[in-house]
Amino acid sequence: MEEIKDNQGNGGNKKPLIYYYLVCLIVLMLLNALVTPMLTNRQIIDVSYNDFLSMIDSGRVREVAYDDSDGAYMFVAEDDSGREGVYRTGVWPGDGERLLSQLRENPEVKFLATIPVQENPLLTFLVSWIFPILLFFIIGNLLSRSMMKRLGASGGLGNALQFGKSGAKVYVPDEHTGVTFNDVAGQDEAKESLKEVVSFLHDPGKYSEIGAKLPKGVLLVGPPGTGKTLLAKAVAGEAEVPFFSISGSEFVEMFVGMGAAKVRDLFKQANEKAPCIVFIDEIDAIGKKRDASGFSGNDEREQTLNQLLAEMDGFDAKKGVVLLAATNRPESLDPALLRPGRFDRRVPVELPDLAGRVAIFKVHAAGVKTEEGIDWNALGRATAGASGAEIANMVNEAALRAVRMHREKVNQEDLEVSIETVVAGAERKSAVVSEKDKRLVSYHEVGHALVAALESGTAPVTKITIVPHTGGALGYTMQVESEEKLLMSKSEILSQIETLTGGRAAEELVYGRDNMTTGASNDIEKATKLARMMITRYGMSDEFGMVALETVSNRYLGGDASLQCSEKTAGEIDALVFKTVQNAHDRAYSILEENREKLEKIASYLYEKETITGDEFMRILNEGK
Ligand code: ADP
Ligand code: MG
Ligand code: ZN
Repeated sequence: MEEIKDNQGNGGNKKPLIYYYLVCLIVLMLLNALVTPMLTNRQIIDVSYNDFLSMIDSGRVREVAYDDSDGAYMFVAEDDSGREGVYRTGVWPGDGERLLSQLRENPEVKFLATIPVQENPLLTFLVSWIFPILLFFIIGNLLSRSMMKRLGASGGLGNALQFGKSGAKVYVPDEHTGVTFNDVAGQDEAKESLKEVVSFLHDPGKYSEIGAKLPKGVLLVGPPGTGKTLLAKAVAGEAEVPFFSISGSEFVEMFVGMGAAKVRDLFKQANEKAPCIVFIDEIDAIGKKRDASGFSGNDEREQTLNQLLAEMDGFDAKKGVVLLAATNRPESLDPALLRPGRFDRRVPVELPDLAGRVAIFKVHAAGVKTEEGIDWNALGRATAGASGAEIANMVNEAALRAVRMHREKVNQEDLEVSIETVVAGAERKSAVVSEKDKRLVSYHEVGHALVAALESGTAPVTKITIVPHTGGALGYTMQVESEEKLLMSKSEILSQIETLTGGRAAEELVYGRDNMTTGASNDIEKATKLARMMITRYGMSDEFGMVALETVSNRYLGGDASLQCSEKTAGEIDALVFKTVQNAHDRAYSILEENREKLEKIASYLYEKETITGDEFMRILNEGK
């Protein structure tokens, strides 16, 4: 049996069904041939007539019976070791009388009609009927279970087949997540509001005495990778209570009502374990707004949501069950889910600021060996807009690089390179760039850098490189703000657009308008987006003023915008965007034209070196001033 299980465990589709039937058959045949007779029948031993006579002489025969059908004697006799056995022998014709008298001489011999060879009718029944059926049942069960697994992996059918059979789903809480608030760097506001939840879980009585009710549900909202899941685990770790963690999608079932049943099970078990935390990750999977169309075709999801709403009303917050949920699409959640008494507390988990990023770097660097004196602030500044998950990834990339370089510890350079790797993709060492392209990319990148340096308002250049990266960039210019900017002025945005157009402008200046390349596509996209946002979102144009022309949905997932204006206005916006970018390009072109000498000089220096720092760049720029 063990062997069969193993094969199924490996998910072996290689062994066909017939294999299992064969094994079954062989086991049964062996049973019938060997075990069954041993258990049910006394073994009948055929002996010769003179053996029979000598056994009578030595007085070992106990019972005798004459079988008419085949004219033979059956008898029970003791063997040498005193054990009883059943024997059979043929009758010697004409010898009957003499044999009979000889047997009679021994008073111990009993004459019977038959010698029973079958031991126990109940046992026989068990062995010959119940046991094989049981065997088939077990093997069939194993088979069907492995088939379920296979079906389950290939689609939802596995669950579907178990419909009606499955009982309550048992949720196993994590007793100690091992994560504490110390593992979550930055996010101080979020931690502050969650600390209240922790203290409530420690001592629910303290709150109920005053009559204070804690929010039943806390919703963590924020962009992906900012530590929402991590925070929920940390709350459980700090409060030292069981932690039920379920993803919203786990409730989505094939049959109407199954998801609702799961919600019921979950809350029942959570109530038994109280105080505890129930965490529903990615709650938007079940909590989406119910629509009124009536053709939504998703009854199951609605039922699950309704059940969740009902359970949230039903459970007693005093007992200490706290519901946490996380999402990055709060605007898509059903309003009923957000009303007071349900998820009424919202904790924003935003992208980390400079201090937060530095802290996250340090938390993750604690897990790897680093050299002394790493400039964490510089790393934090170079990663504006990165999420906690990205920073964790950067630290790991740095550690991998240190191993590749056969070093014991991670150093500053590893970290800086890994930031680039995560932002722009890994350096493509093998990519062959022709000398001509390399020269063009040098001009392009220096074009960006020069415009940035000569146009006040943009961040200083910290690095220029023409080493291609797997992200597709043939080179790039890195700018780092010395401090975090929360507000940007119109002139700053305009200089940023100019900087973005500087690359293409340099190409045009050096090679002529007919020889511009595809290398500027990313710049163009960014510049256009900025110009459009200036007009439609920030109200920075004289033509439209402070009228919102766009609405933003999915704020935490990149922020798709949709225009909210007449077609005529849309046309005018397009024209204005065009004009803005065009003007910026013209200005960048004239800046570069005036500084043609510097452009040539720095570009050929970059062409030689392939990577130059912001300081080197500034030195050449300021030479001879
Ligand atoms: P999400 O917000 O998408 O749920 P997670 O909580 O799953 O993000 O975060 C993913 C990983 O990113 C975490 O396991 C952790 O390693 C890292 N991380 C994210 N934010 C932080 C933070 N504030 N401090 C430390 N690590 C973080
Ligand atoms: Mg998450
Ligand atoms: Zn460019």
